[in-house]
Amino acid sequence: MRCPHCETLEDKVIESRMLAHGESIRRRRECLQCGYRFTSYEHIEEKQLMVIKRDGSRQLFDIKKIKHGILRAIEKRPISQSQIESILIELENEARIKALNTNEISSTDLGEMVLKKLYTLDNVAYIRFASVYRQFENVEEFIKEIEKLT
Ligand SMILES: [Zn+2]
Repeated sequence: MRCPHCETLEDKVIESRMLAHGESIRRRRECLQCGYRFTSYEHIEEKQLMVIKRDGSRQLFDIKKIKHGILRAIEKRPISQSQIESILIELENEARIKALNTNEISSTDLGEMVLKKLYTLDNVAYIRFASVYRQFENVEEFIKEIEKLT
């Protein structure tokens, strides 16, 4: 860290102490250039990703809920556990990137992201998820969606 006295970036930690049951660490540092001693604190950055639902309510992002929806859509389809796991990891990463500035993502965006993944993975799973998620208003809409696949 930059020495507040001479602005050198070289220092050594001379003491580390855990605070608040490990939620924070206090470090005593000594500048290697001028010997000035200063203190730094380390905290975990708590940034919860929130999902904004269609009715405007907010919920904590929970990958388990997405997994649940995906598992229902791929029931009895030839899709391996590792394929599901990698999709979930990709989805969580993409959601966090999309929510980088606000820590918020809409459930609509999230649903579309899942659809995109399923689209490349399995047509049947895609249609199943889409029919629940998009709540097709009529048979024509449903058929249109299936026709897009072929
Ligand atoms: Zn210094």
